[in-house]
Amino acid sequence: MLNSQIPNGPLSDKWKSHKFNLNLVNPANKRKYTVIVVGTGLAGASAAASMAELGYNVLAFSYHESPRRAHSIAAQGGINAAKNYQNDGDSVYRLFYDTIKGGDYRAREANVYRLAEISNNIIDQCVAQGVPFAREYGGHLSNRSFGGAQVSRTFYARGQTGQQLLLGAYSALIRQMNNNKVKFFPRHEMLDLITIDGEAKGIVTRNLINGKIESIPAHAVVLATGGYGNVFYLSTNAMASNVTAAWRAHKKGAFFANPCFTQIHPTCIPVSSDHQSKLTLMSESLRNDGRVWVPKKKNDERNPNSIPDDERDYYLERLYPSFGNLVPRDVASRRAKEMCDQGFGVGQTKLAVYLDFKDVINRNGKDWVKEKYGNLFDMYKQITGENPYEQPMSIYPAVHYTMGGLWVDYNLMSTIPGLHILGEANFSDHGANRLGASALMQGLADGYFILPYTIGNYLSKASHDIDIEHNNFKQSKNECEDKVKQLLSIKGKRTVDDLHKELGKIMWNNVGMSRSKENLKKSIDLFPELKNEFWNNVNIPGSSNELNPELEKAGRLADFIELGELMAKDALNRNESCGGHFREEYQTDENEAKRNDEDFKYVSAWEYKKENHALHKEELNFENVKLTTRSYK
Ligand SMILES: Cc1cc2nc3c(=O)[nH]c(=O)nc-3n(C[C@H](O)[C@H](O)[C@H](O)COP(=O)(O)OP(=O)(O)OC[C@H]3O[C@@H](n4cnc5c(N)ncnc54)[C@H](O)[C@@H]3O)c2cc1C
Repeated sequence: MLNSQIPNGPLSDKWKSHKFNLNLVNPANKRKYTVIVVGTGLAGASAAASMAELGYNVLAFSYHESPRRAHSIAAQGGINAAKNYQNDGDSVYRLFYDTIKGGDYRAREANVYRLAEISNNIIDQCVAQGVPFAREYGGHLSNRSFGGAQVSRTFYARGQTGQQLLLGAYSALIRQMNNNKVKFFPRHEMLDLITIDGEAKGIVTRNLINGKIESIPAHAVVLATGGYGNVFYLSTNAMASNVTAAWRAHKKGAFFANPCFTQIHPTCIPVSSDHQSKLTLMSESLRNDGRVWVPKKKNDERNPNSIPDDERDYYLERLYPSFGNLVPRDVASRRAKEMCDQGFGVGQTKLAVYLDFKDVINRNGKDWVKEKYGNLFDMYKQITGENPYEQPMSIYPAVHYTMGGLWVDYNLMSTIPGLHILGEANFSDHGANRLGASALMQGLADGYFILPYTIGNYLSKASHDIDIEHNNFKQSKNECEDKVKQLLSIKGKRTVDDLHKELGKIMWNNVGMSRSKENLKKSIDLFPELKNEFWNNVNIPGSSNELNPELEKAGRLADFIELGELMAKDALNRNESCGGHFREEYQTDENEAKRNDEDFKYVSAWEYKKENHALHKEELNFENVKLTTRSYK
């Protein structure tokens, strides 16, 4: 059933020959097609602008008031590309190899190679738009290193790379809005996907200001709606990030792939109290110059500055001499947890390790550090009240990114013809663990350089007419209206946030950084109870025809609860450890993830069925890379 549409031929020729073989839509016909793009973060804004530039009519939707508010704006550290400006041995093949290995051999070779190939075009495109990447004294673009690589290939704009890239994509989008080729619908939330004869033909939206629910027809639909890390309640994601668009499409037939593959980022500001609703990332770029350590003595209460070097355990440098502090995120996170579990944690909660800049400040001076990381240091100080120029940062792992998402083929099309998925919302390129600075690369590759080609292949076969009188438009709209009414009628006792926190605890304790058969089974029994509690005891104040953030959050939480259950089932099914998916039963003597290639070298793609989910498997074939045990020693 699952056809990944991977082209034949040598790896390095696949994308080139595929582009040639794709059907084209002639320029005069492009204007006869309307494409809906939901989401205007980096993936959606770049796709909408590029398709409008080609001549398609684009309807772009976002629940934000401006594309500039998308979660992409939070991206700090940088974006990878295989330019090899440093002359340090980088190449398209090396970026491809690092990404496949970083994902613990659970991604498609063909997709990842294409991503590495396109990475260089992205930098050219963004420079041409005026994105102010950091430069060397001589004017060349500057690079730094990220985890899982031994070359410097990360392009950056201080700690604001996402913001600057989004301004570039936004300018491209605004140009097309002014040309009337993109019509932007701010503060509109997609509530459902409309299919006709199994193909995506529109969406249902709710105007978040006045509550009006409408059906919107189109010839194709693109979802670029971001990741679902907020299923854990506490994460580094923007507060509004959610799974609703993807989940509702899933319920209409789009398979959900590898839902349990979650990335826990090692360097976040630790949780300080039960009242928190958000966690803050300290960019991985800081591990270029910061050194991670814990005191050698358990429960050491001394001020970190008074602990001498020989009483510190720089455990990443000790365990992984060749990658040191720049091991990938899954490895660094697990080791931090292990240190704290063994009693070496620091700070009030003892759930933290140090990230120390003393050496680099002594070596290069405070101004040098400020130039590179100034905004991150300021942010840390504002949140914790501590000055990281004078004492080490305290950090701990937190939920950050979701590698899972809706299943897509090589054309980025889901199992519903006409429905394309981009950016973090799809599962495509990162396997079981994403390397730092590669989400921006993937979102922009999808939006600027892949979808504009592949969507033509679908549209070239689509009729110019849409039957807007079709009953499915009315029926989907009615169903969404009924659901809103049902939510508002519950009038229970618990707030949405309270129930969301409960979900978060179930997820973090059982489906988080460390998972076991026993805990996963236990959690699977808890979801139906929580679902029942939600649908009988949630309290949503206000009404449907006004701005009602509690109503918005409630709809999203209902989807998160269902997703959480599927994540636990997926994690239970995968009897191996790989990347961010760590099953306690499957580890080496040195506590590293132990893969099982013989039985689990596949993408799990789940089909929605009312009572249960059905598992489909896409076997992964590795013809260019030899499967080995991942080692960063
Ligand atoms: C703090 C932080 C720092 C990061 N730093 C980096 C980095 O340095 N490098 C890197 O490569 N990656 C980084 N990442 C990851 C990266 O930022 C994201 O993966 C990426 O920006 C996602 O982009 P996107 O376009 O797929 O989705 P988003 O930017 O999340 O955009 C989603 C869009 O969908 C819209 N939307 C969602 N649901 C609906 C709905 N139902 N109806 C209507 N609209 C909807 C939203 O309004 C928004 O416009 C970071 C992530 C975090 C959390």
